[in-house]
Amino acid sequence: MPMKFYKKKYDIIVVGAGHAGCEAALAASRMGCSVLLVTIDLDKTASMPCSPSIGGMAKGQLVKEIDALGGMMAKASDASAIQYHTLNTRKGPAVHSTRTQNDKIKYHMVMKSALENAPCLEIKQTMIEDIVVEDNKIKGVIERSGLGFESEAVILATGTFLKGTVHIGDRAFEAGRAGEFSSIALAESLKKYGFQLGRMKTGTPPRLHRQSIDFSKFTRQDSDTEPTFFSFSTQSLSNPMLPSYMGHTTPQLHDFVRKHLQYSALYGGHIHGRSARYCPSFEDKIVKFPERESHQVILEHEGIETEEIYASGLGNSLPWEIQAELVRMVPGLEQAEIIRPAYAIEYDYLNPQQLTFCLETKK
Ligand SMILES: Cc1cc2nc3c(=O)[nH]c(=O)nc-3n(C[C@H](O)[C@H](O)[C@H](O)COP(=O)(O)OP(=O)(O)OC[C@H]3O[C@@H](n4cnc5c(N)ncnc54)[C@H](O)[C@@H]3O)c2cc1C
Repeated sequence: MPMKFYKKKYDIIVVGAGHAGCEAALAASRMGCSVLLVTIDLDKTASMPCSPSIGGMAKGQLVKEIDALGGMMAKASDASAIQYHTLNTRKGPAVHSTRTQNDKIKYHMVMKSALENAPCLEIKQTMIEDIVVEDNKIKGVIERSGLGFESEAVILATGTFLKGTVHIGDRAFEAGRAGEFSSIALAESLKKYGFQLGRMKTGTPPRLHRQSIDFSKFTRQDSDTEPTFFSFSTQSLSNPMLPSYMGHTTPQLHDFVRKHLQYSALYGGHIHGRSARYCPSFEDKIVKFPERESHQVILEHEGIETEEIYASGLGNSLPWEIQAELVRMVPGLEQAEIIRPAYAIEYDYLNPQQLTFCLETKK
């Protein structure tokens, strides 16, 4: 059957409602463009796939710049913040960085509502599988059921989804993030048009049930008493502030991980992608810093109305049953129940040397 195009033509189509896609769509809308934002799952708009937080070193500065340029991220972060912490206060002001811990669901809802209410901006849930190119110029995109959408320009903001593969031990399955579809056809489409794709990897720690944790063995850390808001427009706190908890791993736990290294996806030879940033998994820390007898574990709330706790520092790619033993060797986590296991993920990325400084493809 010949391809059908949707009746309307847009100025801009944005593929992907992650942090980048949401800002791109909102910025285009503010500039008066007609915008279509297409994403695989609207209930995952502006999802945080790893820590329930925004900002931190360098990233905090970026969030404030987005705010100064009229963007949404800082406002959404303040509206969903459940802890504020300014990092590096012992150093000069140029390197002070705001970091918030956030209620993930609230952050998503604030961002989704901003998109739903932005002028000239339409949102649609589907997966884009192909780009349409005529005379070496982009004409639009084609979604999964075969409908085409036309536009003057297309912005790809597909994050970790292009040929995403999740690894847990020696098991691997296609996913853009745990529980979400991988974007396979679009990666093939880009390759077909001659774009160079590489492979990167990242990972995330397990999420634990709050009621299975003995917090008395951790050191409580509270929010700053005088928080620095992310947005210049925020006047007051929106939510109750929640603490986080710091604990430590032990030499016995390190020995346990050393013994089971070959079962991890990372050291079992199942992962070939490179890290986008220095964010070592726990098994990596054990191998690269053998002299260390202890590493930090920080427990953070994933939100106000959930019992899920993010176990920062325990990211790994070991099989679930080994993760369960590993977690229980941390003092205070002897009875801990994993709700979501840690995993590693590999995905395709586009070599940025194929882009101009304004992020348009040279092609
Ligand atoms: C397990 C894990 C751990 C991570 N840890 C960190 C971390 O600690 N710190 C950090 O800064 N970053 C981390 N990241 C990277 C994180 O993904 C990014 O920082 C952030 O989410 C990137 O935002 P984004 O908008 O570029 O992409 P994403 O948030 O990945 O959003 C991409 C969007 O595109 C959509 N999409 C993809 N393909 C299609 C298609 N074909 N059609 C329609 N929609 C599509 C998806 O549905 C999604 O909504 C991690 C990622 C993962 C998966």
